[in-house]
Amino acid sequence: KVVIALILGYTFDKNKITSTTYLPNNETITSLIKHLKLDGDLSFDNIHHASKDFGNRYNFLPLAVLYPKSVSDISNLVNYIFQMGPTSKLTVAPRGHGHSLEGQAQAHQGVVINMESLAKYQEMDFYVDGNYKNTPFVDVSGGELWINILRESLKHGFAPKSWTDYLHLTVGGTLSNAGISGQAFRHGPQINNVHQLQVVTGTGEVVTCTKEMNSDLFHGVLGGLGQFGIITRAHITLEPAPEMVKWIKVLYMDFATFTKDQELLISSNTSFDYVEGFVLINRTGLLNNWRSSFKSKDPVQAKRFVTEGKTIYCLEIAKYYKQEDVHTIDQKIESLLSTLNYNDFTLFISEVSYVEFLDRVHVSELKLQEKGLWDVPHPWLNLLVPKSKIHQFANEVFGKILTDSSNGPILIYPVDKSRWNTKTSMVTPKENVFYLVAFLSSAMPSSTGTDSLENILSQNKRILEVCENANLETKQYLPHYNTQEEWEKHFGSQWEAFVRRKFRYDPLAILTPGQRIFQKAI
Ligand code: FAD
Repeated sequence: KVVIALILGYTFDKNKITSTTYLPNNETITSLIKHLKLDGDLSFDNIHHASKDFGNRYNFLPLAVLYPKSVSDISNLVNYIFQMGPTSKLTVAPRGHGHSLEGQAQAHQGVVINMESLAKYQEMDFYVDGNYKNTPFVDVSGGELWINILRESLKHGFAPKSWTDYLHLTVGGTLSNAGISGQAFRHGPQINNVHQLQVVTGTGEVVTCTKEMNSDLFHGVLGGLGQFGIITRAHITLEPAPEMVKWIKVLYMDFATFTKDQELLISSNTSFDYVEGFVLINRTGLLNNWRSSFKSKDPVQAKRFVTEGKTIYCLEIAKYYKQEDVHTIDQKIESLLSTLNYNDFTLFISEVSYVEFLDRVHVSELKLQEKGLWDVPHPWLNLLVPKSKIHQFANEVFGKILTDSSNGPILIYPVDKSRWNTKTSMVTPKENVFYLVAFLSSAMPSSTGTDSLENILSQNKRILEVCENANLETKQYLPHYNTQEEWEKHFGSQWEAFVRRKFRYDPLAILTPGQRIFQKAI
């Protein structure tokens, strides 16, 4: 009989937990070492990286880090902790590439599982000849990085359909959220492009699930914030890979024209292959930077285009093609662009390989790392804003709460969920078309100015207040809350199913405590 021991209705108080006050419990350590049969290693020393993440704001030291070599290492560990019962403090957090923002992959005094270690011991299996299940797919480790999947898939002439803007993230990490980028309007997020998962539940059971088999677990785990199971393998749908990409940026002075064009593009099946956009508020010299990699159609006129002191909207689009289309692609693009209403003379085009296009953020990462600006605090805020409210949102935020966009990119682009699988745990606004608005700020550690952590957090708070007070019905993406009441509101009508699944698949609330949705009873 399963003991139901997770606590509902608690408030997470960050101040009550400090990683420095933690002292390892010798009894627990000895007991773990004695009882666990592992192919890999359980380390009590090599643990410090597991208390860090990309957000660089939360640091909870685990008790140990498991470096698994097999799925049974993970299932043995979880089952062992489950058998300890509700009186044990131990929790377990799978850690992908640790690019969470608020400690979501951390486990204070618990065990963190280094999922990339598992990936080193698991093969990528390709099924691309159509003999099996009709759709080409790759069977990969949950700890695999998307960049590696891209490189390996290309060797077979294939590639996944749906991406994130940055590829140095793991399969398990993005599938626990959604995985949204400029392809999602056509293919849905990454959670819609997976047709089988292998999962270790909170009791240590290894379960294979699909839409048809163990479907409740399958849908629960996708977008499930790591609450119901640890993804150890996933079947990712593939398509024949393009070779080259025409990557285009055009500018708008007017928000209504910008969003009208974005919405037109995402309603078509034959337009561009990637549709995103961003907001530029009072930026200096940005177009000059672009000119090194993007060719302006009319450089003389483009030079006269002033961005300083203005709020400007940039539509970012891409068309994929193969070498054999090289003679027709320009004509095709010209015809697609002719339906848009961007400002004359603001057309910038770049021609890159498919890999260069998909791995574009890594280039910025390397530059920022060189300047010591990658490992700074990242107080990001990601919102999903319903189409009917996006103008009100823009009116209140751009130029008012945010008077410049120098702290980091502000992405804004629509998606249409009418063709998505909406049975997953992912939470979206009710309207089919909604915008992803991502404030991707970097804070300067010793600053007291506009780029200080304090100032950016206060801006984020004001943006959230606008959404709340004006009832904009937004939802957070990569959500972060401190109380269960807030989580309940976030999930809305999906909350009941979420709690039911937690009781069913992780009844002791062992898994992924860093999301702070449920607390293990102790
Ligand atoms: P981690 O940070 O290691 O883990 C994230 C969460 O998933 C944690 O709660 C963890 O416990 C859990 N988890 C990890 N592995 C597993 C597993 N195998 N099974 C179950 N749970 C697991 N997101 C987008 O959607 N679109 C984007 O374009 C995008 N761009 C980004 C760009 C950058 C530079 C960064 C830093 C993040 C971006 N993200 C984007 C967000 C990113 O998708 C999430 O933060 C993702 O969770 C990070 O993956 P990770 O492997 O680092 O996961």
